[in-house]
Amino acid sequence: MYDLAIIGGGINGVGIARDAAGRGLKVLLVERDDLASHTSSASTKLVHGGLRYLEHYEFNLVRKALKEREVLLRAAPHIIWPMRFVLPVDEGMRPAWLLRLGLFLYDHLGGRDILPGTRSLDLLRDRRGDPLQKRLRKGFAYSDCWVEDARLVSLTARDAADRGAEIRTRAECVALDRGTDHWNLQIREQGVTTTEQAKVLVNAAGPWVDPVTALYDRSNHAAKLRLVKGSHIVVKRKYQGDHSYIFQNSDGRIIFAIPYEDDYTLIGTTDQPWTYAEGEAKISDDEIDYLCAAASEYFLKPVTREDIQWTYSGVRPLFDDHSRSAATVTRDFVFDYDNDNGAPVLSIFGGKITTYRVLALQAIRTLSDALDVDGDDWTKEAHLPGGDFRPDGFDSLVDQYEDRWPFIDRSILHRLARAYGTDTANILADVTSLTDLGQSFGAGLYEIEIRWLIDREFACTAEDILWRRSKLGLHMNEGEQRAVEQWFERQGPLSKANLDLS
Ligand SMILES: Cc1cc2nc3c(=O)[nH]c(=O)nc-3n(C[C@H](O)[C@H](O)[C@H](O)COP(=O)(O)OP(=O)(O)OC[C@H]3O[C@@H](n4cnc5c(N)ncnc54)[C@H](O)[C@@H]3O)c2cc1C
Repeated sequence: MYDLAIIGGGINGVGIARDAAGRGLKVLLVERDDLASHTSSASTKLVHGGLRYLEHYEFNLVRKALKEREVLLRAAPHIIWPMRFVLPVDEGMRPAWLLRLGLFLYDHLGGRDILPGTRSLDLLRDRRGDPLQKRLRKGFAYSDCWVEDARLVSLTARDAADRGAEIRTRAECVALDRGTDHWNLQIREQGVTTTEQAKVLVNAAGPWVDPVTALYDRSNHAAKLRLVKGSHIVVKRKYQGDHSYIFQNSDGRIIFAIPYEDDYTLIGTTDQPWTYAEGEAKISDDEIDYLCAAASEYFLKPVTREDIQWTYSGVRPLFDDHSRSAATVTRDFVFDYDNDNGAPVLSIFGGKITTYRVLALQAIRTLSDALDVDGDDWTKEAHLPGGDFRPDGFDSLVDQYEDRWPFIDRSILHRLARAYGTDTANILADVTSLTDLGQSFGAGLYEIEIRWLIDREFACTAEDILWRRSKLGLHMNEGEQRAVEQWFERQGPLSKANLDLS
C-alpha cells in the first residue's frame, strides 16, 4: 500500500513525488511515456514572473513566480541561469511609460538578490540594438532566468527516487477503482497489467487530467481543462550575445527570441486551441507563418521558413476560466480536491514550470490531513542533484574539471557541467584516459554518459537521451543519431538489469 500514487511524470507530478518522498511517504509515480515527454519539455524554458500576466492583473501569480526565480536558481544553478531580456519600445505598441511601470512592478513585486534590475537602453548605441530594425531606438533590459525544462523534470524525479519514491516510466494507468479508504490502480507496462494500491491519488496528467478523471468518475462531469497549444521554431543563430529579445506583436501578444544550444535562436510561442482529436501536438503552417512574420517585424534580417532547423509544440493544460481568448486564460494553477466521495484525490490544472515547487508544497499541504504529514517547506533550501554549488561558481567548476581531466575537450566538460553540475565528477570519477569514456557517438556524446542517464535518470531509448536528457539530437547528423539507436538495440530489452552499469 503506497501512501501516495501520482499519475503523470511531467514537472508537476515529479515535483509532488519529490516533496512527498522527502517527508518519508511511500510514493509511486507512473508515467505512460518518458519523463517530460509532453508539455514539460515543450515550454519556452523560462523561469519567469511572466511580465505580460501583469496586463491581465495576475499579480498573485506574478509575485509567486518572481519569488521562485532565485529559489530555483540556487537549487539548480547548472540547468538554470540568469538571462537578460531586451524589450524594444515600438510605435503603435504599448507606450514607454506603461512598459516602465510594468518593469518597475516586475523588479519589486517578488524581490531579487542575485538578478540585476531593469535598465533603459539606447538601441542605436547599445550593441544589443545591432540586429534590430533601425526604427527601434529605445528599449529596456530586464532579468529573468532560463531553465533546461526536461532536465529539471528528470533531476527532480531522480531526487524523488533518491529519497525513496518509486518512479516508473512507460507505465500507463489504464483503470482506477476508488474505495472508501484506498485506490486500486491498474498499471500497464510493456503489455503486462498489474494492480497497485494507494491511500491517496494525485492526478497530474497535464493535458490528460480530464481523461484520467473519467477512469473513476463516470458521471457526466464537466471538462475542466482548456487545452491551448504553443509552438516554437528553432533557427540558425540570428544574433551574437547571450541576451534574449521580447517582441510585441500587433495582435497584443508577445514572442521571445532566445539564444539556444549555442548555434541556434529559439522563437516562440503561439496560443492555439487544441483537441485530443489532433493527436500529437505539432506546429501548423499558420503558426510557422505567424512566428516568422512576428520576428521579421523586429530583426533586420527577416526570419524565413528556410531558416527553420527544428520545431516543437506542447499543450498547456490550463484551468478553464471561460476567458474568451486562449492568450488570456489564467496561467496559475488550480486544485480540485475531492475527499468526500471515497479515498482522497487531488487533480492539478495549469501551473508553470516556474511554480512547480510551490505547487508541490501546496499540494502536500492540501493533503496533509489525508497523508498525516506537516507542511513545512523543506524543498526551499534543498539542491537538486548536481546543483550544490554557487550560482556564480559555474566557470570555476568547469576550470576544476579541466584541471582534473585535461585530455577531455573543454567544450565537452562545459556541456557536462551544464547538464550534471557537480555530478560530472561522479560520472567521470574513474576516467583516466579518453578510452575510459567508451564509444564516441559525435557531438561530444560518449557511452559513459548514456550509461549514467540509464542508471540515474530513467532514460530508456536513444530519443530519451538525444531530445530530452539533452538536446544533442540538434547537433548530430542522422548517422550519428542512428549509432545511438544501434547501441540501444545491442543492449536488448530496456532493462537496467541487462546493462552492465558497474
Ligand atoms: C508553449 C508553452 C510554453 C510554456 N512556457 C513556459 C515557460 O517559459 N515557463 C514556465 O514556467 N512554464 C511554461 N509553460 C507551462 C509549463 O510547461 C506547464 O505548465 C507544465 O509543463 C505542465 O506540466 P504537467 O506536469 O502538468 O504536464 P505534462 O508535462 O504534460 O505531464 C503530464 C504527464 O502525464 C502523463 N500521463 C497522462 N495520462 C497518463 C496515464 N493514464 N498514465 C500515466 N501517465 C499519464 C503524460 O504522458 C505526461 O507526460 C509553457 C507551456 C507551453 C505549452
